[in-house]
Amino acid sequence: MLLNFLDEEISQLKAEGRFVKLRVVTGMQAPVSVVDGKTVVNLTSNNYLDLTEHPKLKAAAKAAVDSNGVGTAAVRPIIGTMDMHLALEAKLAKFKGTEAALTFQSGFTVNVACCQSLMSSDKDLLISDELNHASIIDGGRLSKAVRKIYPHKDMKALEAILKEGAGARRRMIVTDGVFSMDGDLAPLPEIVALAEKYAAFVMVDDAHASGVMGKNGRGTPSHFGVSDKVEIQIGTLSKAVGAVGGYVAGERRLIDYLTSVARPFTFSSSLPPSVVATCSAAVDVMLDEPERIAKLWDNARHFKEGLKKLGFDTGASETPITPVLIGDTKKAQAFSARLFEEGVFALAICFPIVGRGKDRLRTIVSSGHTAKDLDFALEKFGKVGRELGLI
Ligand SMILES: *Cc1c(COP(=O)(O)O)cnc(C)c1O
Repeated sequence: MLLNFLDEEISQLKAEGRFVKLRVVTGMQAPVSVVDGKTVVNLTSNNYLDLTEHPKLKAAAKAAVDSNGVGTAAVRPIIGTMDMHLALEAKLAKFKGTEAALTFQSGFTVNVACCQSLMSSDKDLLISDELNHASIIDGGRLSKAVRKIYPHKDMKALEAILKEGAGARRRMIVTDGVFSMDGDLAPLPEIVALAEKYAAFVMVDDAHASGVMGKNGRGTPSHFGVSDKVEIQIGTLSKAVGAVGGYVAGERRLIDYLTSVARPFTFSSSLPPSVVATCSAAVDVMLDEPERIAKLWDNARHFKEGLKKLGFDTGASETPITPVLIGDTKKAQAFSARLFEEGVFALAICFPIVGRGKDRLRTIVSSGHTAKDLDFALEKFGKVGRELGLI
C-alpha cells in the first residue's frame, strides 16, 4: 500500500514515453546480434573494436578464473587488491603515458570519485560543459564545489566563468572528450590554453574515445597532442575495451590521493580477476592490432557518407557515433521500431535525454561490421526513411 505512489509514477513515465522496456540479447554482444529473438545489424552498442568476442580476451578471462577465482570479496584498500590489479594499472599508465593509473568498477564511479574527491570545499569551482555525461553531473552534485555550466563547447562562456572564478581555491574544468549523443569532440587545445591562462586543471572523460581516438586508441588528449596538459584522464573499460570498469590516469600523487579518499574505491569492492585479465589483454590487442581502429574509422566514414547521401542529417558528428536527427519523439521512435522489424537495431534517443526537438536515432558502427552489414543497414534506413516521409 505504501508503494502505491509508484503506480502513478509509472503511468507518468509511460505517458511521457520514458518507461523502459529492456531489450534482451541472446548469445554474444556482436556486430550482428540476436536481440529480443531477432537477428539484427547492431548499431547500438559501444563495441567499437568488436573486442567482446575476441579470442584472446576470452582466453584471458577463463585463465584468470582458474588462477585467481571469480571474485575479490573485498574493497581495494582492505584485501581486494591483487597483483593483477596493479599490473593492469601499470599497463594502463604506460599506455596513456602517465606516471600512474587507478581502476574503478565503472566509468561512472571513477567520474564521481574524481569530482567528489578533488572538489571538496565550497571554495572550489567545478566548471562543466552542458552536455557532459550524467556521471559528471552526479559527481558534481556530490562534491562540495560551486558548479558552473557553460553552453556546449562555448569557449567565450568558459573564459568568462574562469575570469569570474579567479578567487576560487581550486578550479577544475571537466569535459567529455567525445560527446556521447552527438559524436562531436571537445575543443581540447582551446580548453587547455584557457586552463593554463587562468590556473585551472583539466579532467577529460574519454569513455567514448578510449580505443577510438588518438594513437592506438589512447584518447582525445593524444589525438590533439595535449596529453601533457590534461591533468586527469578518465578512460572506460566498458566500451571499446569490451569488459567493464573505468580508470583514471595521471600523476603519481593524484593516484595516491584518490587511493586514500575516493569513496567508490574505499567502499565498493574491486574488479573481479576475469575482468582485470580481460582488460589487460584488451590493451595488448589495441597495441598489436591497430588495423581494428583503422577498420572502425573506415566503417564510420562509409556509414556516415551513406546516411548523408540518403538525405539524413547527421549533425556535428566527428567520430563513429553518428546521430540521425529526426526532431520529433514519436517519429524517432517509429523509425527505430520499423528499422528493428527490418533487421536493423538503432536506438531512438529522445527528450529529455537530449534537448527538445533534438530527438534522434543514434548509430555506432563497429570494426566488426562487414561492408555487407552496413550496406544492408543503409538500404533499410533509406526504405523506412522514405516510408515515414523523413527523407
Ligand atoms: C558510458 C559513459 C560513462 C560511464 O562508463 P561506464 O564504464 O559504462 O560506467 C562515463 N562517461 C561517458 C561520457 C560515457 O559515455
